[in-house]
Amino acid sequence: MNQNIGTDLGLNFDNDYDRLPNYLLSKVAPEPVASPELILTNDSYAKSLDLNFSKVSLKSLTKIFSGNVLPKDSESVAFAYAGHQFGFFTVLGDGRAVSLGEHKTKKNIKVDIQLKGSGKTPYSRQGDGRAALGPVLREYIISEAMFGLGIPTTRCLAVVKTGEDVIREKPLPGAVLTRVASSYIRVGTFQYLALKKDIGGLEELVDYTINRHFIKLKNSENPALELLKAVIKKQIDLVVSWMRVGFVHGVLNTDNVAVSGETIDYGPCAFLDSYNKQAVFSSIDSSGRYSFGNQPIITHWNLLRFAETLLPLIHKDQKTALKIAADVFEGFEDMFKKAWLSMMMKKIGLSKEEVGDDILIKKLLDWMEKHSADFTNTFVFLTTGKSFNNKVYGKRDFLDWCDLWKSRLLRSKNKDEFKILMGENNPIIIPRNQVVEEVLDGVLSNNNLVSLFNFLDVLLDPYNIKHNGSYYQKTPKDGGLNYKTFCGT
Ligand code: AMP
Ligand code: MG
Repeated sequence: MNQNIGTDLGLNFDNDYDRLPNYLLSKVAPEPVASPELILTNDSYAKSLDLNFSKVSLKSLTKIFSGNVLPKDSESVAFAYAGHQFGFFTVLGDGRAVSLGEHKTKKNIKVDIQLKGSGKTPYSRQGDGRAALGPVLREYIISEAMFGLGIPTTRCLAVVKTGEDVIREKPLPGAVLTRVASSYIRVGTFQYLALKKDIGGLEELVDYTINRHFIKLKNSENPALELLKAVIKKQIDLVVSWMRVGFVHGVLNTDNVAVSGETIDYGPCAFLDSYNKQAVFSSIDSSGRYSFGNQPIITHWNLLRFAETLLPLIHKDQKTALKIAADVFEGFEDMFKKAWLSMMMKKIGLSKEEVGDDILIKKLLDWMEKHSADFTNTFVFLTTGKSFNNKVYGKRDFLDWCDLWKSRLLRSKNKDEFKILMGENNPIIIPRNQVVEEVLDGVLSNNNLVSLFNFLDVLLDPYNIKHNGSYYQKTPKDGGLNYKTFCGT
């Protein structure tokens, strides 16, 4: 089914799949769709990958991004993986996605280009292998927003309407999403190999992952151990950056943790409006396992599962391996706290820690929680002196906190640094749940793509002060804590 298209586009597949144990992937072609219509392309992102959409006819682009034709040199595969879903181990795999291949840019950077919603695979279980347009566009919007916010993430290249309905609670328009990751290797990928008790295969996967993401570790004495440390560091940085912008991933199962340190899987995620540590938006997360404030703890848990898979490679003697891994995790809590505190300090304009800074920050967060203050807008107010709902910032207890904060700022060496730090770390615009829903509704009900494009433009420029006072900052009346999101849509 491969055709000689894609070369004009700049697709340059250079697949290293044969470095991986062969049972880790299934060769599977996307299932063709009836009446594909290309509705969205991410031209600027494409350009950054050395792809040029303007060189290819709409017809060819539609064929490629619907999965109706495989471009030249594509070897489409679905990956097997396992994962702890809400704490329970399950064997999974790409049930509704196929990777077209590893595209290499001119700077030799490799990315995986994947079609999501492209039909059944050997891992589809009871699923139909398809995706609905609404959730596809939601992933597009939120992953672009994450990129704009400076947070590692998969990104989307194109959306095709399939012309076919997918059956959920009711029939919904179907779509295929093309998304790109620096790789789709997950903690769950390692768990799948561990399940097979294939030590040689694990070694191959460690080697592949190091080649792909951590080339500096290439000649390490103990590659598995160094990989573990590097992945821990990446995940801490990632989760801290989520917490900087009020992002709740919503389904931090081990299959949704990419070892590259990118945010993957945008199913039930959401952004905080009102600050609340316990905020949960996912309709199925009744215990709050993946709440905003639990993300560090669950990341620790997920990384322990990762470490378990690597134990046989860390040391031949199981007890020694356990001891080595335990030593690594000994420092986890401190590492996280340090990274989190440093991030929060920047949000209030501080760079060098002083005794009591953690208390100052805790007081601000407690204040927000007490008054259901908006997380993003509170920091916008502190940064600019102006925000969407200014009333709450006139309260006595807030002014008292501001007095403490200002006297702390006076003790900073560089008096102007705080403005820069706050400007860089406090977005003016986030993809607020309510606005995302409105924009999606506009596309789904009225084909209003203009409001989508306008929104995406702002989301790619979220720190720009010129957006302060914008419609996109409006907060929901109930603080947004009743908003619900859904998995597997
Ligand atoms: P997620 O909740 O998106 O991480 O998905 C968990 C697992 O369910 C993954 O293995 C997905 O590939 C699979 N899955 C989700 N939706 C579908 C679907 N409509 N058809 C087949 N597999 C699916
Ligand atoms: Mg997933």
